[in-house]
Amino acid sequence: MNTQDKVSGYDLLRSAHLNKGMAFTEAERRAYHLEGLLPPGVRTLELQVARTHAELAQIENDLHKYLYLSDLQSRNETVFYATLMSDPSRFMPIVYTPTVGEACQKFDHIYRGGRGMYVPISARGRVKELLENWPEKDVRFIVVTDGERILGLGDLGVCGMGIPIGKLSLYTACAGVPPQYCMPVTLDVGTNNHELLEDPLYLGMRHERVRGDDYHAFVGEFIDAVQALFPKCCVQWEDFANFNAVPLLARYKDKLCTYNDDIQGTAAVALAGIFGALRISGQKLADQRFLFLGGGSAATGIAELISEAMTLEGMTIDAARARHALFDIQGLMVKSRSDLADFQKPFAVEHAPLDTFVDAVKALKPTGIIGVSTVPKLFNQQVIEAMTELNERPIIFPYSNPTSRSECTAEEAYAWSNGNAIFASGSPFPPVTLHDGRTFMPGQGNNVYIFPAMGMAVFATEATRVTQEMFIVAAKAVAEQVTEQSLATGLIYPPQAKILDASLHVAARVAEHIFEKNLARVPRPSDIEAYIRKRAYRPAYATT
Ligand code: NAD
Repeated sequence: MNTQDKVSGYDLLRSAHLNKGMAFTEAERRAYHLEGLLPPGVRTLELQVARTHAELAQIENDLHKYLYLSDLQSRNETVFYATLMSDPSRFMPIVYTPTVGEACQKFDHIYRGGRGMYVPISARGRVKELLENWPEKDVRFIVVTDGERILGLGDLGVCGMGIPIGKLSLYTACAGVPPQYCMPVTLDVGTNNHELLEDPLYLGMRHERVRGDDYHAFVGEFIDAVQALFPKCCVQWEDFANFNAVPLLARYKDKLCTYNDDIQGTAAVALAGIFGALRISGQKLADQRFLFLGGGSAATGIAELISEAMTLEGMTIDAARARHALFDIQGLMVKSRSDLADFQKPFAVEHAPLDTFVDAVKALKPTGIIGVSTVPKLFNQQVIEAMTELNERPIIFPYSNPTSRSECTAEEAYAWSNGNAIFASGSPFPPVTLHDGRTFMPGQGNNVYIFPAMGMAVFATEATRVTQEMFIVAAKAVAEQVTEQSLATGLIYPPQAKILDASLHVAARVAEHIFEKNLARVPRPSDIEAYIRKRAYRPAYATT
């Protein structure tokens, strides 16, 4: 029996998942008591999408486009995803960064209801009861935030909900994770954002953030409830403050299927860029040496994953870590410094203190520099020229976001290295043509190459764990899809316009690894890529 048989009339038009709007056929309108509730014309899905494109083209402001799409998502999921998937590179910046950041900042003023699960700390002892109110009983994927470090915008409390919602839309649009299995969650433990606390329209708990044991007990109760209700569910941690993100991941990574995209996805996309760069330079990973500008979670996460990837080429982890170094606001991280955190210590080098980045480049002779400092312009002409003197093809990755914080522009990197830099950045840059006529296509190290594919692999295999090695496999799978033509223009990531195909390939590679490591809860299919493609969501109306 079709689900539509159970829901009919007005309720059917209000069910985003089942609603076809003007695409209900005359026979369906008769069968489901819709006659008279719609104008008599009948449209196809293609026409609905074309109409959505036309309407969006009339809207100039990106936040208004976001709101239009968000209303569409609540009204007709199929048209929403068909629209997103018709032009992902155009719509990703609307449903996710940067527009979603503005939407979160204004969330309580533009709230329209509807999506996601809000779990306040006042519900301690009853978290399972709350989760039981979610309409779907088979949840496979949760993106959860506590709203403390939303993008680069800081503590937005419950207004951070825009992020799990937007991110899950990308899991579906970019890698085909079926939307009915996805649940966005915000754990509301209060906020330290006083502007929000004083705003009469603020929608969350009106107190300072709960910390310490109470906080961890609450998160623990949430995880227990998820496991009891949804045993096949993967939990992705999103935009937690560093001091919570790192211990939460450490506490749960070996107990359930879970990962943190800010830490692991970021590292994997950088590693994918490195694998892409090595295809241009023809060198081996084990011969690389990276110097990071910045010593925060992004820098240490990337350095650790590169080191783990090097161990797969036969190095010990200590030898691999010793090939990288961090340079933060206090200078080079040397062993004699007393201010280093535990997660930074593995990368501290035996060296005299150095105060300028260019001196560190000259002393350590890295093959690549990775900027994750949040400070613009620090990859200056001296730095790029020093890298170019040391390397035939220096790897230059200014990853700080947004564009205004990038450690250098694409044009600067190509011009100062005489076109020899292998470049990728955190925020997008337009193509660059040098005075001699050579044109370069800068790549963007966007996590979207990794997390949707990881989600699809985990969903399709019902994986029990997410391991670091799965991220290394994903990074390789991203890099192997870059065409020779793209590499010839300096582009080391696949085109975002073809993200679904790229993600399904990455998901298949990761799934293969999951089967090899006996981490799957479904039997191994004979053709893994075909299996993944078959399980992927496609926006189409069910025929009745
Ligand atoms: P963080 O605040 O944890 O770390 C910033 C680091 O930069 C700190 O170690 C700090 O000491 C150092 N720093 C600050 N000023 C400096 C200066 N003048 N000179 C040298 N070092 C300086 O931040 P994070 O979470 O590690 O993120 C850093 C950046 O990386 C952000 O801009 C973020 O947008 C970017 N990022 C990009 C991606 C991506 O593109 N995929 C993913 C994650 C993070």
